[in-house]
Amino acid sequence: MKAAAAGYVRANDLSHAISLLAASEGQARVLAGGQSLIASLNLRLAGETALIDINGVTELCGIALDGDVLRIGALTRHRELATSDLVARHAPAISQAAPLIAHAAIRNRGTIGGSLAYADPAAELPACMIALDATIVVQGPAGRRGVRATDFFIDLFTTDLGEDEMIVAIEVPACAPGERQVTMELARRSGDYALAGIVLVRRENGARVAFFGVGPTAVLARAAMAVIDREGSPDEAAAVLDQDIQPLDDVHAPASVRLHLARVLLRRALNATLAAEVGHV
Ligand SMILES: Cc1cc2nc3c(=O)[nH]c(=O)nc-3n(C[C@H](O)[C@H](O)[C@H](O)COP(=O)(O)OP(=O)(O)OC[C@H]3O[C@@H](n4cnc5c(N)ncnc54)[C@H](O)[C@@H]3O)c2cc1C
Repeated sequence: MKAAAAGYVRANDLSHAISLLAASEGQARVLAGGQSLIASLNLRLAGETALIDINGVTELCGIALDGDVLRIGALTRHRELATSDLVARHAPAISQAAPLIAHAAIRNRGTIGGSLAYADPAAELPACMIALDATIVVQGPAGRRGVRATDFFIDLFTTDLGEDEMIVAIEVPACAPGERQVTMELARRSGDYALAGIVLVRRENGARVAFFGVGPTAVLARAAMAVIDREGSPDEAAAVLDQDIQPLDDVHAPASVRLHLARVLLRRALNATLAAEVGHV
């Protein structure tokens, strides 16, 4: 099946894209990599909608370090995240996450802005943003605002974005000396969405742990973080995970399996950061 035709406009620049979006009064969608949007239109999972193509908007491109903040343009492709030296150095959790997303063809087109706006609970990048305490920069006719990632993801495929707003960039606190970041996931086959995944960030001022694939949104595991901060063992942190995540049964795995996998990942991620601290990796 193919999508019903409902109009297509290619935006020349950011202000053109925003004015097109505002003029559509909620009837148009931004087209970035198209890897989720076109599939849902073809399957008629999304209603008939006009498309505003932002692929020519250069203001949304590029990765740059600005002081101690890594700024990533919304149109940055997953492949660029995976291969960027700046991302590897200043946000290794994202660098590790990007190659886990789907397959090469999808990574060549899919964008960080598209992934965050789509807010798939099994996606890697929303969890990275939560664990890294990143800020999502959004812009609409009323101007620009920054939203903390922990406030941005509201529910299943639902974010804080207004219908006349778009994501323009992501601001990530740059990795400090001595900081450890680990992204891991467990999937049935390479390239599949994860059954469970973790992003662990260990900073001087405390640990941040986010899980994906285990609930309606990526989730910050506050009980486990408290155990890590008081230097509890990986087993003790894993034991309290049922306070943080309550997966549901679905066709891919029962809830008990996802909780078990999340515990396995937490132990592995903690052991990896501990081994790095004593110089084993
Ligand atoms: C077979 C397959 C497997 C996949 N596996 C994975 C996986 O394992 N992990 C994973 O994370 N993803 C996976 N994906 C999704 C992929 O990562 C997409 O690239 C991503 O979800 C959407 O990015 P996009 O740039 O293609 O967005 P699009 O498909 O163009 O848009 C998606 C949504 O975001 C909106 N949007 C896009 N950009 C913006 C913006 N800047 N501001 C506001 N709204 C915007 C669109 O209007 C639309 O509603 C998979 C996709 C496929 C087809």
